Amino acid sequence: MPRTRLRISCVHCGRPVALVGDISLSVLTLLATHLQRRHPGEQLGAHPGEDAILSHFAITPVNPGSEPPDAA
Ligand SMILES: [Zn+2]
Repeated sequence: MPRTRLRISCVHCGRPVALVGDISLSVLTLLATHLQRRHPGEQLGAHPGEDAILSHFAITPVNPGSEPPDAA
């Protein structure tokens, strides 16, 4: 059964950064990397927590079948 996925968009630039099944450590790393590279003015600190990272992103559930498969 297809799982609902989560689209994670950056609140600063509006870019969809990730489309994932769940928010794992690797996803958090991806998000933190986006902030560091694209928005260096946003200070995360050396070891930002999950809440600190996710506060910079909007998470939207995506129902299976409502979108074409990932182009990437
Ligand atoms: Zn951004």
